[in-house]
Amino acid sequence: MTSSYDAIVIGLGGMGSAAAYRLAARGLRVLGLERFTPGHDRGSSHGGSRVTRQAYFEDPAYVPLLLRAADLWEQVERDSGRDIVTYTGGVMIGRPDSRTVAGSKLSAEQWGLAHDMLDAAEIRRRFPTLNPADDEIALYEAMAGFVRPEESVLAHLQLAGQAGAELHFEETVAEWAAEGSGVRVTTDQDTYTAGRLVICPGAWAPDLLAGLGVDFEIERQVMYWFAPEGGTAAFVPESHPVYIWEVDADTQFYGFPAIDGPDGGAKVAMFRGGRRCTPETIDREVHDAEVEAIRTHLRPRIPALPGPLLHAATCMYTNTADEHFVIAAHPAHSQVTVACGFSGHGFKFVPVVGEILADLAAEGSTPHPIALFDPARLLPASRKAHP
Ligand SMILES: Cc1cc2nc3c(=O)[nH]c(=O)nc-3n(C[C@H](O)[C@H](O)[C@H](O)COP(=O)(O)OP(=O)(O)OC[C@H]3O[C@@H](n4cnc5c(N)ncnc54)[C@H](O)[C@@H]3O)c2cc1C
Repeated sequence: MTSSYDAIVIGLGGMGSAAAYRLAARGLRVLGLERFTPGHDRGSSHGGSRVTRQAYFEDPAYVPLLLRAADLWEQVERDSGRDIVTYTGGVMIGRPDSRTVAGSKLSAEQWGLAHDMLDAAEIRRRFPTLNPADDEIALYEAMAGFVRPEESVLAHLQLAGQAGAELHFEETVAEWAAEGSGVRVTTDQDTYTAGRLVICPGAWAPDLLAGLGVDFEIERQVMYWFAPEGGTAAFVPESHPVYIWEVDADTQFYGFPAIDGPDGGAKVAMFRGGRRCTPETIDREVHDAEVEAIRTHLRPRIPALPGPLLHAATCMYTNTADEHFVIAAHPAHSQVTVACGFSGHGFKFVPVVGEILADLAAEGSTPHPIALFDPARLLPASRKAHP
């Protein structure tokens, strides 16, 4: 039997859970479809923590979205009763002309964000676990910290359900098609129709959004939890910031305080530089050589951190060529809205992306500045001229 809805959301991970909630909260009849279980670990939104920050070296254009996200996280925490965001402060470390430092500083100055610039001695004094080289500096901001991704997904699903959304798990979308002014979605279990479709496919973008013509690169990433030498006391979130450390133009790592108690270790990971994969072929095993590689970066810089490895897990980035997101109406079907290509830095935007997707799907436009995320920029010149 075919059931009909105002809007269908495909993918109930980080972004889709937020879109389903915001659409249902506006009174639309929403169906959410997800191939796995709520808060699963097969996509891009698991592993216990994500960095959030406001000074944004990737581009100052992201800052207003981050300011809105901070307000929305607060509302989602309040309404769901879940603990999602913790502001520990954050340091962006590197040489003064590095993208991490110079880009963060530029965006902080452009938007008047509160921040301090710290020289190497000041970094060591304020954060004794960190041991920068004498010519490295940092931008510190208090409004950085961590988001708990699984809690965010569960909170948005909870609020979506309370607002009347119908949410189906372990149901895989086989195909979708525009039909008249609406859409038809076929799963492994049923067929549904709706006036609007929102597609938040994460690493499955190459399958579900092949028609966009955009090349998405799926990248395997590893998260490592180390038991610091001397215990976690020096790494507690009350005094230890999140950090991003630019070693050189091609090498950044980032990490968190010990947010899971004395036995949970502290998480650290490389930012980019992983192997290309697909959701079907990703190697979920973590190899000794990769553990040794990250230890090599950590030993001189955070000497106490790389004690015994407690745990490691893989995750996928969905990269665009310029590492900016894709959030837009589908160029060929105005009733379809897409959100993908978050290029390893999307989670901190989840609630504002949900709001933007609800704007685009329900109203056809959004007051938020999203020009940077237009997929047309990623198309070969020939396709741009003849869409
Ligand atoms: C290791 C790692 C570290 C990261 N660190 C940070 C960070 O510190 N800060 C930050 O801001 N961002 C970070 N990110 C990026 C951020 O986590 C992602 O941008 C974000 O989680 C992407 O959300 P999403 O909704 O696009 O994908 P997902 O959460 O993966 O959601 C996509 C969903 O679609 C479902 N789906 C796909 N195909 C189908 C189908 N055919 N039928 C039904 N359902 C389907 C999937 O099962 C999945 O649940 C990190 C990512 C990784 C992997």
